[in-house]
Amino acid sequence: MKRVTLLAQVDPNICTGCKICEKVCPVYAIHVTDKKAKVTEDECRGCANCADRCPFHTITMVKREKPFTIGVDASKYDRDKINEICMKAHFNPEQVLCYCVGVRAEEVAAAILAGAKTPHEISSMTGIRTGCTIECIQTILRMLTAAGIELKPDPNGWQWYGQTVTAWTMPEDVKTKYNSRGFYFDEDRELLEEIARTGESN
Ligand code: SF4
Ligand code: SF4
Repeated sequence: MKRVTLLAQVDPNICTGCKICEKVCPVYAIHVTDKKAKVTEDECRGCANCADRCPFHTITMVKREKPFTIGVDASKYDRDKINEICMKAHFNPEQVLCYCVGVRAEEVAAAILAGAKTPHEISSMTGIRTGCTIECIQTILRMLTAAGIELKPDPNGWQWYGQTVTAWTMPEDVKTKYNSRGFYFDEDRELLEEIARTGESN
């Protein structure tokens, strides 16, 4: 759940139409047409990623006149289905997946049950990945995969990072190689599974 208090505002006199802002927006709220960036105000989640990355310092974050709250109430969705998606993704439903915004696994699962099929839709509904916009993309991809949703490359060809290796997908030869160097992948996996299992009783 997130209180959206800020809005990205573009100065069209400075904007060059380079599209970098478009590429970094986690919810597709900013688009370039006729070489000028334009923000869809209702869609902007106030993360400031576009403002931080614009090479021409064209974007200012301003206070919204009417702040609003986004989020998905997990209690309104089937608890068994929420738990099933979370367990398949190896997350405890109460586990926080986005530390910037405080979005938990159960809320992401609820967003998926509510119809979200892409990282952008999940971010737009829950606010996940609208803080630092970096760390939690992998958790979103894991949740979508666990729900049986096919991960398709971003339609714009941007923001597709692929999935990184996890404790469950680590190749055996890599594990063997690094085990001797003081890494404990199997022990890590058991510990993470124990954390996730505590969610079964929820
Ligand atoms: S990154 Fe800045 S200059 Fe480039 S299109 Fe966006 S607002 Fe315009
Ligand atoms: S990057 Fe963030 S601040 Fe910029 S338009 Fe998108 S949601 Fe709004």
